[in-house]
Amino acid sequence: MTSNLLTDTPRPTVAAPALRTKAELRSALEAPRRAGQTIGLVPTMGFLHEGHLSLIRAARAECDLVVMSLFVNPTQFGPGEDLDRYPRDEERDLRLAAEAGADLVFAPPVDEVYAADAATAVEVSGPLTGVLDGDAARRGPEHFRGVTTVVAKLFNLVAPGVAYFGQKDAQQAVVIRRMVRDLDFPVRIEVMPTVREPDGLAMSSRNAYLQPADRERATALSRALAAAERGARAGSLADGIAAARAELAAAGVEPEYLEARDAETLEPVSRLGDRPVLVALAARVGAARLIDNVLIDPDNPSTSDT
Ligand code: AMP
Repeated sequence: MTSNLLTDTPRPTVAAPALRTKAELRSALEAPRRAGQTIGLVPTMGFLHEGHLSLIRAARAECDLVVMSLFVNPTQFGPGEDLDRYPRDEERDLRLAAEAGADLVFAPPVDEVYAADAATAVEVSGPLTGVLDGDAARRGPEHFRGVTTVVAKLFNLVAPGVAYFGQKDAQQAVVIRRMVRDLDFPVRIEVMPTVREPDGLAMSSRNAYLQPADRERATALSRALAAAERGARAGSLADGIAAARAELAAAGVEPEYLEARDAETLEPVSRLGDRPVLVALAARVGAARLIDNVLIDPDNPSTSDT
């Protein structure tokens, strides 16, 4: 029998090295930093999908050194939320991260990140964190305090020149931009488009919670947002929101919120003017709480996600 080199030779498994401590991370970054390399940071909670990988690829294309963080941050989960069952698969994540171009993965345990007597938090206050997901009846502003605190810590630890976030979490991106501006973090924030499944469902680690029937119903979210954009451009924002509500209702999906807001200030808006409008949506579908959004830019009909 002749052997086939392509199929018989085991392909070496590439996995990005996982650094567990801040000291390991600092020492790994010392030489690249001294050599003047540009560092790109991609913060994640793992269970990687194409959305995460698009951020890593964007970082790979622009930076000399790509660092991904893999940390399920407990301080951004509320008491009744899914911290304990959040999906995890570190081995797969390290492989996918390396394949997409990550050089290093910072994957610390919780007690490496937070001292038991940690007493400091970073909070963006006001309307950016008190509306939509930050509404006290939903995840509350504490969610964003958890996010900004851990991201500020990552910025201090990694000192990236660029950090990459997804438009999927539009409010998070707005909040982080504000934190960076207000506290003068020397980092550029890049927000990349939402990556979707072929049927439109925005990729999310939490999609793993969806049973088949719920997975089907979940497609109503992206259909609703497409209807919102179509309606808003053809008639009025109110028409668009009404069309979105109808799409959700037809699928039996009850939105937690479905709102049109200024894409930068998150002030409520009732009509399309000359500034980009974010239509944001959250809904529980089966065991998953899903969020999605569309950005309607009056100057550019083609900026919405693909
Ligand atoms: P997470 O692991 O869910 O905290 O997400 C880590 C980063 O990936 C965040 O900046 C998210 O906004 C981004 N992200 C998550 N899902 C997507 C997606 N479908 N498309 C693009 N970026 C995403």
